[in-house]
Amino acid sequence: MRFNNKVALVTGAGSGMGKSIALFLAKEGADIIVNDINSELANATADDINNIGQQGLSVTADISSEDEVQSMVEKSIVVFGRIDFLINNAGISDQFVPTIEQKADYWQRVIDIHLRGCFLCSKEVGKHMIEKRYGKIVNISSVVGIGGSPMRNAYGPAKAGIIMLTKTLAVEWASYNINVNSVSPGYILTPLIEKGIELGIIDDKVIIRRTPMGRLGRPEEISEAVAFLLSDAASYVNGCNLPVDGGWTSFGSYGDAFNIP
Ligand code: NAP
Repeated sequence: MRFNNKVALVTGAGSGMGKSIALFLAKEGADIIVNDINSELANATADDINNIGQQGLSVTADISSEDEVQSMVEKSIVVFGRIDFLINNAGISDQFVPTIEQKADYWQRVIDIHLRGCFLCSKEVGKHMIEKRYGKIVNISSVVGIGGSPMRNAYGPAKAGIIMLTKTLAVEWASYNINVNSVSPGYILTPLIEKGIELGIIDDKVIIRRTPMGRLGRPEEISEAVAFLLSDAASYVNGCNLPVDGGWTSFGSYGDAFNIP
């Protein structure tokens, strides 16, 4: 029980990795503020957390809205008095549209949810962490924020921005005993990816061949990495971006990465 008496805010915790992270931390003793834009999904995760025996507080908010983020954090502070951990996870996919066909409004929406959302939540929660002189923030970036991917003209820059925001906050807030790190998942089997496969915009067979470990990741594998960065074991880790990607970002050769003879 590494996280007894800790309070964690997980954004986008109604589904996929956010839900997995929220339940993982609760099983290790944390109370969880469950954010999602979808209240039904957020409520369901909060119920699961209450069933584990920890307190789950469901707070519906669009993390790209400054007013909604401020209300979410205010409500959380009223209930718990503090927020020890922030996991900036909520996000949407992009449409894999050639850049010259990309609509500026859609591009902006992707940037707003990922980068502005991460900034707003960090800013509002950071105020309380600075006051308490304690906090740990983990931002969910992506391998797409590390290497260029054709047609991911909004998602890639947003995720790259999250890596730099992580480093910026890490060095700005280190003297307040706040650690800020990011995790960059490879392709993880969540509803987001399942939908992409169904729609034919993601080819899982090609991804598997391009992944040195020859498989998609599991949400729990991301939760483990997040939990490590939140734990005392990572007390001197600050401003790092940890790829959890089955070797995806290390592969620099030609052709398939898996089953190379
Ligand atoms: P997911 O299953 O779709 O879960 C994301 C959750 O965030 C959904 O419930 C979604 O609601 C919610 N959300 C979307 N916009 C929001 C907003 N403005 N405010 C609050 N909540 C919002 O996706 P996932 O695969 O777990 O992805 C989680 C994070 O990991 C994302 O940041 C994603 O970019 C990143 N990531 C995923 C992968 C992967 O392979 N799965 C790889 C690298 C990085 P709706 O369903 O209503 O949109």
